[in-house]
Amino acid sequence: MASSSRNRYLPVKNGLKSFWLKQPHELSDHRSTSTIPEQSDIIIIGAGYAGVATAYHLLKEGTGAAAGLNITILEARGASSGATGRNGGHLRPDLYGHIPKYIDRAGVRAGAEVAEFEIENMWAIKKAIEDEKIDCDFTLVRCVDVYCNTKDATNAKASYDKLVALELDYMKDMFFTADPKEAEAYSGVKGALVAVSFTAGTMFPYKFILGLLKILLATGKVNLQTHTPVLSVERDEKRGYAVSTERGTVYAKQVVHASNGYVAGLLPEYERNIIPCKGICTHIEMPEQNRGTAPLFTNSYSLANDDNTSSYLIPRLDGSIIVGGSRQKFRPFKEQWYHNVDDSILIDASKDHYEEYMQRTYRGWEKTDAKVSSIWTGVMGYSFDSNPHIGSVPSKPGQFILAGFNGHGMPVIWLGAKGLAKMILADQRGEKLPFSETGIPRLFQTSQLRIDRAQANKEEDGDILGTGQIFLPKLPIHETHTWKSRL
Ligand SMILES: Cc1cc2nc3c(=O)[nH]c(=O)nc-3n(C[C@H](O)[C@H](O)[C@H](O)COP(=O)(O)OP(=O)(O)OC[C@H]3O[C@@H](n4cnc5c(N)ncnc54)[C@H](O)[C@@H]3O)c2cc1C
Repeated sequence: MASSSRNRYLPVKNGLKSFWLKQPHELSDHRSTSTIPEQSDIIIIGAGYAGVATAYHLLKEGTGAAAGLNITILEARGASSGATGRNGGHLRPDLYGHIPKYIDRAGVRAGAEVAEFEIENMWAIKKAIEDEKIDCDFTLVRCVDVYCNTKDATNAKASYDKLVALELDYMKDMFFTADPKEAEAYSGVKGALVAVSFTAGTMFPYKFILGLLKILLATGKVNLQTHTPVLSVERDEKRGYAVSTERGTVYAKQVVHASNGYVAGLLPEYERNIIPCKGICTHIEMPEQNRGTAPLFTNSYSLANDDNTSSYLIPRLDGSIIVGGSRQKFRPFKEQWYHNVDDSILIDASKDHYEEYMQRTYRGWEKTDAKVSSIWTGVMGYSFDSNPHIGSVPSKPGQFILAGFNGHGMPVIWLGAKGLAKMILADQRGEKLPFSETGIPRLFQTSQLRIDRAQANKEEDGDILGTGQIFLPKLPIHETHTWKSRL
C-alpha cells in the first residue's frame, strides 16, 4: 500500500527570513550524521514545533524498554523554518472566539475542553521552559482583545454572555467591558468599543524549538537531518515503512507526520482537511531616539480594527513589536494565499497594511515614527472544521499525524504532542491507547469520519473561507476526559 508516490507540497527553498530567523541558531542546519540512517524506531517528518515537541515527549514518556528508542527527524529546510519560525509568538488560549461554535457543534463539554486544554498548554509550556532553562523570552501577560467595529464587538459580547451563562469556570479569569470609554482607557486603542482580557503568553518560538532540539540531540537518541525533504512514505512488508528522501531511504515501524500545511503531500487523504494557507507578519521598531516616548506595552493584543481587519500583537522586551494578521485584506485574492506554499513572496494585498499601524491604532504612538523593520510570510495548515488532526492515521497502522492547527498552534501543540507520544509508545508495545486517555480534546482526534466529511462536503472549504455553512454531525462523545481548570 503506497502512502504517496509523489509529494505535491514541498516547502520552497528560499523562504523569506522572518525577524526570528534572522538570528540563526547553531543547530539551524544541523545534520547529526553525514548520511541519513538506514533504520530508525520512529521517523518524524518536520522539525517545527509539532515534530520537535513530539520527539521531546517521546523521550520523556518513554521509560523501561521504550527508553532505548531512537528517533530520526527529517526536515525539508532548516530546523523550525516553517510556520514555527515565522509566527507571531503569541501564546493565546482561545477562551471564547471559536468555543461557542464548538459548543453548538458538539455540546458544552466538548467545546469547553478545547479552551481548558489551551489554558493548560500555556501553563505546561511555561513549566517546561523553566524546568529545561530554555532562553526564549517567555513572558506571562494579559492578552487584551479589542473590538473597534460594531459587528465584531456585538459578536464578542454575545460569545462572552453565552459562556458566562454556562458558568464555565475558566471564564473567571476574564475581564470584560462593553463601555467604549472604559474599553479605550483600558486598552489604549483608539475607538475601542469592547475590551476583554485574560492570561496569555508571549515568546520567541524559534528559540524555544531550537532550545528543545539542543536537549534532544544531547541525548544521542535523536538524529536530526535538515535540508532533507521526504518525497514518499511506502509500506514495506519487512521493515514497516520506507521513507524516501533525495539523500536515500530510512525504514521505520512508526512514522509521525508533523509537516503542518504540507501534510497532504504525503497523506493525500487529508487534501481537503488541511489546506496550506499563507499568513503575513511584521516586526515594528521606532528610531532609537524615540524609544520610551510611547506608552509601554505590558500586554499582548488581538484587535478587530474599525476597517474590519483583525491583527494580533505582542510586545518585545526591547520595546519593539511583532504584529500580523490582516487576513480580511487579502481574503478576496485567493491566489495570493490559499492553497499556496510559497513563503518566499509577500502577500500583495496586505504587504503595506502595517505601515503606520501603531500610529493609527494606539493612543500615544502618533509621533513615534514607528516603522516596519521586517515583514515576512509563512504557511499554516488551515483545517476544514477549524480543529487540528491528532492521532493514528486511519487505515495506516504505525502512521500518526499532528497537524492542521489553523494558524493557532502555539497553545495546542505542546500537550497535543504529549498525548500523541503516549499513543505512539502504546503502539510500540502492541497496545492501543484510547483517545480519551491522551489528554487531548475529543474534537482534535483525527478520524475517517472527519476525513470523509471534508471530502464529501459540497461547500468547497468548510470553515476556511467562512463560506461553507457546514453541517457537522455530532462526533461520538466519550465522557471520560478529566479536565480541571486551574481557576
Ligand atoms: C505568519 C504566521 C503567524 C502565526 N502566528 C501565530 C501566533 O501568534 N500564535 C499561534 O498560536 N500560532 C501562530 N501561527 C501558527 C503557528 O505558527 C503554527 O500553528 C505552528 O507553528 C505549527 O507548527 P508545526 O510544527 O505544525 O508546523 P511548521 O512549523 O510549519 O513545521 C512543519 C515542518 O515540516 C517541514 N516539512 C514539510 N514538508 C516536509 C517534507 N516533505 N519533508 C520534510 N519536512 C517537511 C517544514 O519545512 C516545516 O519545518 C502563525 C503562523 C504564521 C505562518
